[in-house]
Amino acid sequence: MEPKTIAFVGAGLSCAVLARELAERGGFRCVLFDRRPHLGGNCHTARDAETGVMVHTYGPHIFHTSNRAVWDYVNRFTEFGPFVNRVRAVTPRGIFSLPVNLMTLNQFFGKNMTPRQAEAFVRELGAPFRTGRERNFEEVALSLVGEELYRNFFHGYTKKQWGCEPSELPGAIIKRLPLRFTYRDDYYQDVYQGIPVHGYTPMIEGIASHPAIELRLGEGFARERAGEFDHVFWSGPIDACYGGRHGKLSYRTVHWTEERLDGDAQGTVCLNYTAEEVPFTRKIEYKHYTPWETHERTLVATEFSKATGPEDDPYYPIRSERDMAVLRHYVGEAREEKGISFLGRLGTYRYLDMHMVVEESLAFAARLGTEPADWPRFSVPEEKLFS
Ligand SMILES: Cc1cc2nc3c(=O)[nH]c(=O)nc-3n(C[C@H](O)[C@H](O)[C@H](O)COP(=O)(O)OP(=O)(O)OC[C@H]3O[C@@H](n4cnc5c(N)ncnc54)[C@H](O)[C@@H]3O)c2cc1C
Repeated sequence: MEPKTIAFVGAGLSCAVLARELAERGGFRCVLFDRRPHLGGNCHTARDAETGVMVHTYGPHIFHTSNRAVWDYVNRFTEFGPFVNRVRAVTPRGIFSLPVNLMTLNQFFGKNMTPRQAEAFVRELGAPFRTGRERNFEEVALSLVGEELYRNFFHGYTKKQWGCEPSELPGAIIKRLPLRFTYRDDYYQDVYQGIPVHGYTPMIEGIASHPAIELRLGEGFARERAGEFDHVFWSGPIDACYGGRHGKLSYRTVHWTEERLDGDAQGTVCLNYTAEEVPFTRKIEYKHYTPWETHERTLVATEFSKATGPEDDPYYPIRSERDMAVLRHYVGEAREEKGISFLGRLGTYRYLDMHMVVEESLAFAARLGTEPADWPRFSVPEEKLFS
């Protein structure tokens, strides 16, 4: 029997994993399109020609998961170097450890507190701001951490990151107290963490390397071509699939400037600049993400955050109330359509880390029967798109 031909729009992690699963199952020919000239989507890495340093082209990526199956899956395709992310904040009052932890609190306030004392101390700092009517980000943050910590660590950074006053953001953004009352300063607390020894692109090349998978890089794909295939999996922006006819979903994006220097520029991977007056959000020194390598030269990338313009890549879904209303139109449209399914960060308009994308694509593959006509429209149940 002739294999069914399936198009994948986007050659990032979500489509690569799903294509691999179908390819291994047999009976499918998978064609991966990406308008970019490389594999890997936003996880793409490349060695800088001048310094030899491994650069994460679209921003630094650390793989972290507590799901053993996901960790085993990615380890089939690459060797991971051990890496635990630690971030520092450059504040108007000096350089401190992030997320704000017991070390930060003791150094910032010149104290010698135990976890219990620090918790009580911070509770007191927030007390004057607790009215029971805290709604927006600023009100919630002040009620949790008080004025001094808020001004030095949260206000300026949040304003730069989101491009608006923190008082205009929903309080729900701070889901829980952004402080730790221990000395733990590892950014992610997952069981498995690391960075592929040779970068993410070889890992994704490994996933996509199968006789039933064909790569068409540097080639955009429009919905009008769907009829040429037995099914299309779309990991590009869902609004772009429909030409934006119900309005544009909004995103924040970042852009980077690069400096190449001798030696060691900042002694660590990531410094967040919290002051509002500093125009950028963070500086990344890439060679520290591969502590198993030695480089005499270094590359520092400076991150600026902005709203996504027509020429920019969409990065972080904003998911405002307006966005979610627009999303409902596209989901309604997709539901009526046969032959296209949506997945991944842009296809489902959710912020997803890499381990979530791998997990969802593996689970999605498991839900796909042999007949494309019966395949679900979304990689996850619809209600998850709005939660
Ligand atoms: C700055 C930044 C830092 C991040 N850091 C981390 C981190 O530290 N740890 C972590 O786990 N995750 C991180 N992530 C998230 C990670 O990048 C995503 O989980 C992952 O890239 C999602 O994969 P995807 O396949 O869904 O989407 P993408 O990687 O975005 O791939 C989608 C691809 O589709 C292509 N495309 C879109 N439309 C079309 C079209 N019409 N035709 C052809 N091609 C098209 C795009 O060019 C793109 O390559 C970060 C994300 C960003 C933006």
